[in-house]
Amino acid sequence: MLRMTIGPTRIAPSVLAKTALHPPAINDPDFLKTFAECTRDLRVVHGIEKGLMHIIPATGTMGMEILAASFAPPRSRVAVFSTGMWGDRWTESCRRMGLDTHRISVNARGPIDYGILAETVAKHGIKTIFCTQVDSSSGLILDLYEIGRIAKKNGAMLLVDGICGAGCEKMDQDGWGVDVLLTSTPKAVGVPCGLIMISTSDRATEFLKTRAWDPWTFSLDLKPWVPVMEAHNKGEFGYVQSPAGNLVNALHEGLRLIVTEGVGPRTARHERLRAELHQGLERLGLEILVKDPQYRSNGVTVILYPQGRDPSFIGALLKNGLMLPGGTHPEYGAKTFRIGHFGNVTPEDISTTLSVLEKTLKETAQSA
Ligand SMILES: *Cc1c(COP(=O)(O)O)cnc(C)c1O
Repeated sequence: MLRMTIGPTRIAPSVLAKTALHPPAINDPDFLKTFAECTRDLRVVHGIEKGLMHIIPATGTMGMEILAASFAPPRSRVAVFSTGMWGDRWTESCRRMGLDTHRISVNARGPIDYGILAETVAKHGIKTIFCTQVDSSSGLILDLYEIGRIAKKNGAMLLVDGICGAGCEKMDQDGWGVDVLLTSTPKAVGVPCGLIMISTSDRATEFLKTRAWDPWTFSLDLKPWVPVMEAHNKGEFGYVQSPAGNLVNALHEGLRLIVTEGVGPRTARHERLRAELHQGLERLGLEILVKDPQYRSNGVTVILYPQGRDPSFIGALLKNGLMLPGGTHPEYGAKTFRIGHFGNVTPEDISTTLSVLEKTLKETAQSA
């Protein structure tokens, strides 16, 4: 069975092997060294030289809430530039936290108009902007350079969910002026679910250290982690909540694979595989949700069901040995299915995916 899923993605055997080892003691010197090496490699993957790396046990959703709870002052105005279900979820989190939330919704098929975000931020004096680099419900990728410029011009803090980007898209946190970048293990990084990675620029770390208010939550506040992570970044011991030791070991191996291949070559490889997949889909007459290739991500492709097919098509694919996730976009979810082609993906995975799609399209042609 080939699983072209979005999370978990295909995980390298050497990464999986690490998860089976007994978790290390939290003050074991070897573990502290491993932790520090993770923060070092993470800087490369996130494209940040200075700043502070945080590696915390949580799901991606909890990571999004950590960002909102830790950086948006109570009842303040925030903007969410939403390119799909993840932006909408962030909007809902912000609403529940009592923030004055301005959601700017982008059509899943494109194009992306950054001007509307700039207008909203300027008009309402917004100082906190949330956005998703790649939304896995639409497959849209944002130009973070553009959004970074808008944030800078308005003196706003930019917080980015890069969960479907880190490991398969270009990441330049320093260059783009992203204050806080969130990623997680189960997607492009190719490590089992359970850890989030947050890098804070010096400005964002300072914001936490000098913050005059406390959020309503302790467990989802990043501030108590700051001294702990300052220690861990240097290979020293710190504690506020338990680390997930065996996942840190797995992440160490996952990041090592990325850094050894090189972020640039790895991103280029994912781009080539994406191009191959998209050419193949076109040949089969399948329509990709995002119309203009400039807005398409390297790791997630969302496809409209062809004429006469519905979600039962996923079952037909499954019978032929291919597991694909269904759609999740608030508007297009029921009309789409998806392919996750990041993590430890190979050219053979792409060709098998295309041949199973072709076969299944033929088999289901009569009913269509
Ligand atoms: C998967 C995903 C998340 C959150 O994932 P969890 O299931 O909460 O771990 C957040 N953002 C994006 C873009 C995702 O694809």
